[in-house]
Amino acid sequence: MSENFSKLGLSAKVVQAVNAAGYTEPTEIQEQAIPHVLQKSDVIGIAQTGTGKTASFVLPMLTLLEKGRARARMPRTLILEPTRELAAQVHENFEKYGINHKLNVALLIGGVSFGDQNKILDKGADVLIATPGRLLDHFERGKLLMNGVEILVIDEADRMLDMGFIPDIERICSLLPPRRQTLFFSATMSNEISKLTSRFLKNPQKVETAKKNLTAQTIEQRLLKAGSKPAEKRSILRDQINSEADLNNAIIFCNRKRDVATLLRSMTRHKFNAGALHGDMDQKSRMDTLAKFKNGDLKILIASDVAARGLDIPNVSHVFNYDIPIHAEDYVHRIGRTGRAGRSGKAFSLVTPADTKYLEAIETLIVKKIEWANNKEKNIAETSDNIPKAKQAKKPTPKHNNQKNEASDHKKHEASNKPKHKKAAVINNNAASKSSPFGNFGPTPAFLLQSAAKPVKIEK
Ligand code: ADP
Ligand code: MG
Repeated sequence: MSENFSKLGLSAKVVQAVNAAGYTEPTEIQEQAIPHVLQKSDVIGIAQTGTGKTASFVLPMLTLLEKGRARARMPRTLILEPTRELAAQVHENFEKYGINHKLNVALLIGGVSFGDQNKILDKGADVLIATPGRLLDHFERGKLLMNGVEILVIDEADRMLDMGFIPDIERICSLLPPRRQTLFFSATMSNEISKLTSRFLKNPQKVETAKKNLTAQTIEQRLLKAGSKPAEKRSILRDQINSEADLNNAIIFCNRKRDVATLLRSMTRHKFNAGALHGDMDQKSRMDTLAKFKNGDLKILIASDVAARGLDIPNVSHVFNYDIPIHAEDYVHRIGRTGRAGRSGKAFSLVTPADTKYLEAIETLIVKKIEWANNKEKNIAETSDNIPKAKQAKKPTPKHNNQKNEASDHKKHEASNKPKHKKAAVINNNAASKSSPFGNFGPTPAFLLQSAAKPVKIEK
């Protein structure tokens, strides 16, 4: 049991905390990466979503931090994350695994006041967990000296090296001492981004527990054929949600923030217990919504790609791609919000005729054909939708321009999608769905609805 972790070279304090967390043995990435981190090597760690990459760097960092102490404004270690929510989650991980350590851990994220963050920096931080923009803000205000950083972790490394973030990452790295340990972790790594890593790492140990870019085996993936009309897509989505007898809760991803808002309005009108998460919301609403989804007050989270990376909400049973992601890697991360830590999960993606080339890119990336859940016999290209050819052939927009705390917002692909009001229908809130996971469409299970009291009239 605990010797499984101490064998890796972790300190007694860390092993005790890991036992308290209820872990009986290290995951594969932990087993392979932790000894290299403890030996102070640079590491590139690639492992599927939900396989414990966070502890792969947090546990050995805690062990290494037991020697030495922090000085005012000179953090000893730095962890960079692409979103505020993910940074906050890694902060929680430090609290969980560092329960036996008296370390000063600072969370530097945008959208919240500088005051409290400054206080921790002044005391001297052993660990800084930051989004790049806010970190640089603190630096420019003279609150931070980065030349004492011994370990740099770049989580979601491929995302952090893509166009939106790379200038900040380069700047931050130029402020760090060249003699430092650098650790990269991700579930995906394209060949182009892989080439960039040599600029930041020295003789890295490459630890890859499965072929990169693969989706977790614990996720059952299905495609749903859809027309491109938003009302039709929403109806297919609702039908599928209602037909999923084992649906506990779900994250629904849209490509555009605007569509997140539209879909939320529609789902709310249909009495689903739903909330939204995207980068244009204020930070308090983002945190509140996420907290409600985590504690079960909210059953359906409609999100942009800001929620695609890293978020660890253990009991998410389903992920829906309302839109097929334009960048294939995003698919791996989005569906990776379910099927975590060995649990099973289901991921459904709505595919319109115009999505064919994006779907092909995804299937090439994950080296897998995804099965159709509906209308299998029909070829996607044969649908009655009249998508203009020019539109179908449109090239993907460049990724993540100008984006720091928000994932990409592919404005060029926005389509007009005003909800259409058609005939009214009645659903019965009280009846539990008995239909099979991939079969008939049943009524909406009561717990997914805002109020389970009475049958409600809804507009389609
Ligand atoms: P990743 O970064 O690889 O996507 P996370 O680090 O977020 O995955 O971990 C996913 C989940 O696995 C977390 O809920 C975490 O508590 C759990 N976990 C991590 N390590 C172990 C372990 N050794 N045994 C059991 N569960 C673990
Ligand atoms: Mg992670």
